[in-house]
Amino acid sequence: MICDNCKTREAVVLQTHTGRKLCKECFIEDVRKRVKLEAQKQELVNSNKILLAVSGGKDSLVLADTLSQFINPSKLIAFNINEGIRGYNRSEDVKKLEEYLKDLGIELIKSGFKEEVGFSLDEMLQASLKRNLNVSACTFCGGFRRKLINEAGIKVDADYVATGHNLDDEVQTIIINLIRGDLLRLIRLGDKPLIVSSKFVMRVKPLRKIYEWETTIYAHLKGFEFQETECPYISQKPTLRAKVRELLYKLEEKKPGTLLRILEQFDEISEKLKKEHRLTSELPNCIICGEPTTPGRTICKNCELLIRSGLMPQEYQKYLPIS
Ligand code: SF4
Ligand code: ZN
Ligand code: ZN
Repeated sequence: MICDNCKTREAVVLQTHTGRKLCKECFIEDVRKRVKLEAQKQELVNSNKILLAVSGGKDSLVLADTLSQFINPSKLIAFNINEGIRGYNRSEDVKKLEEYLKDLGIELIKSGFKEEVGFSLDEMLQASLKRNLNVSACTFCGGFRRKLINEAGIKVDADYVATGHNLDDEVQTIIINLIRGDLLRLIRLGDKPLIVSSKFVMRVKPLRKIYEWETTIYAHLKGFEFQETECPYISQKPTLRAKVRELLYKLEEKKPGTLLRILEQFDEISEKLKKEHRLTSELPNCIICGEPTTPGRTICKNCELLIRSGLMPQEYQKYLPIS
């Protein structure tokens, strides 16, 4: 089977959404081109510093590899977080990640929940369980990870924070926010980054038009050894996301290219939404930690979780929103 693009090499991938059979080189080139196109739209190409949030999983490796093809690696700085999850945050995985990034010429900085927040994720969860809070590990994890990534972005003076979210992640998030009717989050999901607080470093997702299966194949074809250990809390991932994911897979299987079309349509709609709902005012800041929080709130969700788990002094109880 010959590659439909170069017509010389043996094809190894069937790119279902285009119907093309591609060889290794043409497939890798195709992914890189599409990432570059998205990065140009997001104006990443001319920035001075971009913080790459890297977990060590396949998507973060693909992110670093593709961006370093057209952005000088000295402008990229990788950031890895140790959440403090027993059996998951393995030092061997981080070492491998560090070596790989070094080969690309990208420096890696490391941080952790324990050092920055004062508690590991395991400790936060245990404390919350003692108080009978019905909060999943992923809720703690996502909130504090976002906070640490933003702080690191500010520290290194980054113009952007880039994450490895792929097309599947992005479309799932769009559908979930549509179901919830969360307009603010929907508007923020468009292809052009939106500033909602001067305290947020703009977040971009250069892989948002690359299918998850493509990042997996890219990683394998490049011979990356990525972290495959599963987080022990994976079963706590919100069930709505799992259901939406399953539904989208079925749709994509029946009609390849569906996810890409949903995202492209959404980007157009989100532009219109942004114009109609001019977000002129900044998000309020949490009166405890100073981080931006949702309109109408005085403290942020992270501080609320720590107070409710008994991990902040008693005197902060008075700031809890009435539930
Ligand atoms: Fe964090 Fe949940 Fe992912 Fe584990 S599965 S790393 S707890 S978000
Ligand atoms: Zn080819
Ligand atoms: Zn706070």
